[in-house]
Amino acid sequence: MGLRDRGVEIKSPEQIAAMRRAGLVVGETLELLRGHVRAGVSTRELDAVAEDNIRSSGATPSFLGYHGFPGSICASVNDEVVHGIPGDRVLAEGDVVSIDCGAIMPDDSGQGWHGDAAITVAVGAVRDEVTELMRVTEEAMWRGIAAARLGGRVTDISAAVERHVRSQGSYGILEDYTGHGIGSAMHQPPDVPNYGRAGRGPKLVRGLALAVEPMVTLGGKDVSTLDDDWTVVADDGSWAAHFEHTFTLTEDGAWVLTALDGGEAALTALGVPFGGR
Ligand code: MG
Ligand code: MG
Repeated sequence: MGLRDRGVEIKSPEQIAAMRRAGLVVGETLELLRGHVRAGVSTRELDAVAEDNIRSSGATPSFLGYHGFPGSICASVNDEVVHGIPGDRVLAEGDVVSIDCGAIMPDDSGQGWHGDAAITVAVGAVRDEVTELMRVTEEAMWRGIAAARLGGRVTDISAAVERHVRSQGSYGILEDYTGHGIGSAMHQPPDVPNYGRAGRGPKLVRGLALAVEPMVTLGGKDVSTLDDDWTVVADDGSWAAHFEHTFTLTEDGAWVLTALDGGEAALTALGVPFGGR
């Protein structure tokens, strides 16, 4: 079965360029939000900062109204893993907050193109094990991206993410939620699991764009959705971290569309070629 038969969207260079513009808005918004995270700030205030920045950049917040989601970011605190609704919750010293953000940028024809990324940020000083959890999760995301090669397979990424997490200690890797294809829609085939054997799934080709987003807990992998129908929490109450980037592959290597430097520093540090421009 060919890539298009599986619903995998192959982007032209012009379309990837529009995704880069969307990705830069997302990356800049997340860096802005990182600077606003402190004890005493509400997740609703962070959401307002995000929406203002996305719109003033000429983009549209992709989360707002997505299946009825009421915010421009997801803000997930402590044992909330993903999909937290921004609201009255006030961040406290020692918390961690995952901030997930998406933006849509139109190309010359008016078609919108998506960027999707997430960071987990400490609120002041956090427990050492939480700092470690964040480090391991972010590193796993980069190792997953670094494992992607033209001609390889989607689960090469999955295996690299899992291998790194397992090598660093006893953590839970969510299985119910995965990374995903991205382009003219935020969520497209293929799924990009954060665990599993390499060498499976669709082939990695030029024009494919994927969001890689490990969700890792200090405890187990099992999660449930709260009564708000969105917030995903760890069943055992363990705290979680979540990092995400959107990337594509060029002939030269990986290009991380939501990273301000295109991923050059992190990929170079891992000894893999940087494919950005
Ligand atoms: Mg996301
Ligand atoms: Mg995503």
